[in-house]
Amino acid sequence: MTFATLGLIEPLLRALETLGYQTPTPVQAQAIPAVLAGRDLMAAAQTGTGKTAGFALPLLQLLAMEGPKVSANSVRALILVPTRELAEQVHEAVRQYAENLPLSTYAVYGGVSINPQMMKLRKGVDLLVATPGRLLDLFRQNALKFNQLQTLVLDEADRMLDLGFSEELGNIYKALPKKRQTLLFSATFSDAIRTLAGQMLNDPLSIEVSPRNVAANTVKQWVVTVDKKRKPELFVHLMRKGKWKQVLVFAKTRNGVDALVEKLQGLGINADGIHGDKPQATRQRALDRFKASEVQILVATDVAARGLDIEDLPLVVNFDLPIVAEDYIHRIGRTGRAGATGQAISLVCADEVNLLSAIETLTRQTLTRQMEQDFEPEHRVPDTDASGQVVKKPKKPKKPKTSSGGKRNLGKWVESGDASAPEPSIKPVRKVPVFNTGPRKRKP
Ligand code: AMP
Repeated sequence: MTFATLGLIEPLLRALETLGYQTPTPVQAQAIPAVLAGRDLMAAAQTGTGKTAGFALPLLQLLAMEGPKVSANSVRALILVPTRELAEQVHEAVRQYAENLPLSTYAVYGGVSINPQMMKLRKGVDLLVATPGRLLDLFRQNALKFNQLQTLVLDEADRMLDLGFSEELGNIYKALPKKRQTLLFSATFSDAIRTLAGQMLNDPLSIEVSPRNVAANTVKQWVVTVDKKRKPELFVHLMRKGKWKQVLVFAKTRNGVDALVEKLQGLGINADGIHGDKPQATRQRALDRFKASEVQILVATDVAARGLDIEDLPLVVNFDLPIVAEDYIHRIGRTGRAGATGQAISLVCADEVNLLSAIETLTRQTLTRQMEQDFEPEHRVPDTDASGQVVKKPKKPKKPKTSSGGKRNLGKWVESGDASAPEPSIKPVRKVPVFNTGPRKRKP
């Protein structure tokens, strides 16, 4: 199968030739004809499988082939994405695909001045990539009208419909024309999101090119168990031992990112960090420098978990496990992209056992565990497996402390073996319920 047989027009085929795309990926093979036929879509595909081209190519074709010229302050197709970095990345891909077409494209997102964006929108834009918050700001300031909108795309749709964005999305929907094509693309879909998506879409075609919630099998994954306080030291040790050259590291909190970056920089290691508290320009610069291999270690919160395409990234390290199990799939999906192989190492302490169990349940695999010599944890990480059970090994019974030759004064003398003596403290094998992976409210 070729892109030509999918019905793409010549200017797009030329752009793909320049980019070196020869064969459509499975998600592209299914999505492109469906979008061209005007269908609503709900597509689940693993990260790195080419879903951006899956929606962008047919969308550009529809815009080029039909519809009126775009009016002032109007937009004909809208792609909503959850993060600013993703907005830049998706727009860059769109720009390349649209190279030979007379279409205008643009990206708007928060954290940067709104005025240049308002200026740019004055003439109207055929295809706009946006994060929800900034899009609403622009709409409320009358810099944007939606009456010409014909297609809406939600990229990373599960996150877009997540609680963090639901209010903003609700307000955006109210402003959009009812008659439109809607496409949902996402690597993961929870059942709740599917139900919601079903209500939003008109007779949608459902595309699922890979098993749900399975991490890309091009990524070799394992866990190193360690005590929490020794994680930074272990990270540096593994980095030196493995001669790591380019690593994307995920930490749970903004403070965690800053602390690790500070520690690494203190050791003369070329590291930088990105998280939601940093100005957008700083975030983008750090990411660009990392992509250009000018920064060796990039430490990030989950702002970098989704969608980012870093060419040939060999290694992702989960310094902390994600709170939401789905984010594990997104995080490790930054490596092993476009058919390349990659590695994902998670440093896991005893506190994180339920998070580990939830990841193993979601991805239906038991992650291989390793211990590093001299870093063996004092606090053992209980056994886990893909069934969601956490098995705590029973502790050895303590010998009762005695002060008088094996006999204790309990008000009356008791002989050892006496049925009325206290039980030794043995913890029973306990099954801990699977960690709740429901939606969260905090921002990454
Ligand atoms: P995505 O999943 O959309 O982020 O795409 C992942 C990577 O695959 C990007 O670097 C794309 O440029 C690349 N890619 C997408 N489709 C193809 C294709 N058909 N052939 C070769 N590379 C592709």
